[in-house]
Amino acid sequence: MGWRNRSGPRAPCPGAQPSRPCADVEFTFGLPDPLTNYISNSVLGTHSKVIAGFDSTPWRDVCSNGDALSDGPMQACWDSNPKKEGQGSLSFLIGGLVTSYMNQLAPLQLGTDGTRNGIQWGINWAQEEGYTGSYTCLKPGQYTAVESLFFFDGEEDERQVPFLDNLAFIGESFSGDYWGYMEGAAQTGWMAAQHLIDEVL
Ligand SMILES: Cc1cc2nc3c(=O)[nH]c(=O)nc-3n(C[C@H](O)[C@H](O)[C@H](O)COP(=O)(O)OP(=O)(O)OC[C@H]3O[C@@H](n4cnc5c(N)ncnc54)[C@H](O)[C@@H]3O)c2cc1C
Repeated sequence: MGWRNRSGPRAPCPGAQPSRPCADVEFTFGLPDPLTNYISNSVLGTHSKVIAGFDSTPWRDVCSNGDALSDGPMQACWDSNPKKEGQGSLSFLIGGLVTSYMNQLAPLQLGTDGTRNGIQWGINWAQEEGYTGSYTCLKPGQYTAVESLFFFDGEEDERQVPFLDNLAFIGESFSGDYWGYMEGAAQTGWMAAQHLIDEVL
């Protein structure tokens, strides 16, 4: 895959790929070293989301809204339809490549024993075509190494809109405020668009 500049006037171009696939793009001009290192060494998580159906919602009867956080393979779960009565479902966010997570529920005493109804649905972003993982999981040192090339919102002296000439990398991977979240995708997109309107067009 190539991404080449034409000679002559160049159109401004925000590029909205996640950081990892950017490593496959051929740039015919030099990127700053911290950005090259970030793109080459960035890692997207291997999260999966599994939604499990239940015949009832017993976790609500034990005063739980279904939310749980853990440092085990099942990193988080929540009630997928908190306003729906009758049958219910829990969404599990699973990290790593381990898929046995139900046992982790036991200590939480959510009362789910015997209520599973066999329906389940799952998606693993690392295995989906067009994706290389879930979202940015920064390694130690990466943030400080590349923060001068991330987008930051805020007061004028805090704002950072890191265009490299006419090129900007946008998306959650390049947000200094909200990497890993949809806010990061939206934030970098609107800040780049505003920059183009104010400074370029
Ligand atoms: C399991 C899971 C749960 C999440 N939960 C939440 C949540 O609760 N709240 C929240 O705020 N965020 C959540 N997120 C994160 C959120 O989905 C992302 O932060 C957001 O989608 C990032 O948007 P983006 O535009 O930066 O990148 P993406 O949405 O990843 O878009 C990148 C696009 O680039 C395309 N692409 C990739 N490689 C290439 C290539 N080589 N050439 C051309 N195109 C390419 C991809 O197909 C994709 O369409 C979750 C993500 C996952 C995986």
